[in-house]
Amino acid sequence: MSDHDKQVISIVLPLFNEQNGILQFQSNLVDVLRSMSQYDYEIIYCNDGSNDDSLKQLNKIAKIDNRVRIISLTRNFGKEIATTAGIQMASGDAIITLDSDGQHPVELIGHFIKDWESGTKVVVGLRYSTERIGFLKRLTSKLFYKILSRFTGVNLMADSTDYRLIDKSVQTDFNKLTERNRITRGLIDWLGYDRTYVTFKAKPRMNDYTSYSYIKLLKLAVDSLISLSNIPLYLSAYIGAVVLPVSFILGLTMFVDKLIGDPFNWHATGGAYVLVLVLFLIGILLMSQGFIGLYLTHIHSETQNRPLYIVDKDASTGL
Ligand code: UDP
Ligand code: MG
Repeated sequence: MSDHDKQVISIVLPLFNEQNGILQFQSNLVDVLRSMSQYDYEIIYCNDGSNDDSLKQLNKIAKIDNRVRIISLTRNFGKEIATTAGIQMASGDAIITLDSDGQHPVELIGHFIKDWESGTKVVVGLRYSTERIGFLKRLTSKLFYKILSRFTGVNLMADSTDYRLIDKSVQTDFNKLTERNRITRGLIDWLGYDRTYVTFKAKPRMNDYTSYSYIKLLKLAVDSLISLSNIPLYLSAYIGAVVLPVSFILGLTMFVDKLIGDPFNWHATGGAYVLVLVLFLIGILLMSQGFIGLYLTHIHSETQNRPLYIVDKDASTGL
């Protein structure tokens, strides 16, 4: 079989300031890919505006291996955008995204491909334990996925990572997603294909620090929530929906109570009436904010401009 007939695996790697580990990482990666000689491969590094010597190292790598492509962004756009750029430019039959800091074990690439060979179009890496991840980060991540899965219609797995394989056809669908605030794994989950999972133990970083600060993680959490769910917008309507009737009934009861000579013995003062009135007005405000929220959710989903649906081409006939 000539190289031309082989199916191609694209490896997409977002990269930001990984000058120290990248050579070793590349050599580990290539070892694995070479061992699967039934496939051809391309390696796409998405240099996300690194300000160290990463790009120099990458150029060295590309000189030695003509299967290495480098997309270099003009500045740091963030991992999600860098990954998107890489996925969009990948030309393989299957595309595998993983971190270039060595935390996603390249030895498992074969497992992802096996699942893909047996027909799965999305294979997701699940991290089952991380040695160096702090308690707070683990807790927040668990909690975050729980909440997100509950409030979005999308089935999201806790501990799922960006270590993923997607089929070429999923890439086509992914490329139709044009929204700017994006979480790659959330969008892949949103596409709705059946997924299988490969569990792995995250390795310590080659480069000794995480470039995600808590502030960045918080932004990631907020972005995911907003991109997949409208709950925050409805929240004030929900609160208003409680406050409004409660204060209304309370006020009415107080009024009636006073009218018929205080049989409940409430001795409601003027201050109490003012308080209930204020509560009532706040209820109205919260409700009307909620209505604005409703309109905003519609505008939000229109501007996201996602495809209305994704067709499962395998399960459909006569297309
Ligand atoms: N990364 C990137 N742009 C960024 C931050 C990170 O392309 O702004 C890359 C980074 O080089 C690594 C991957 O994204 O390959 C994951 O980043 P990191 O290891 O900092 O995240 P964590 O492992 O803590 O989730
Ligand atoms: Mg990492």
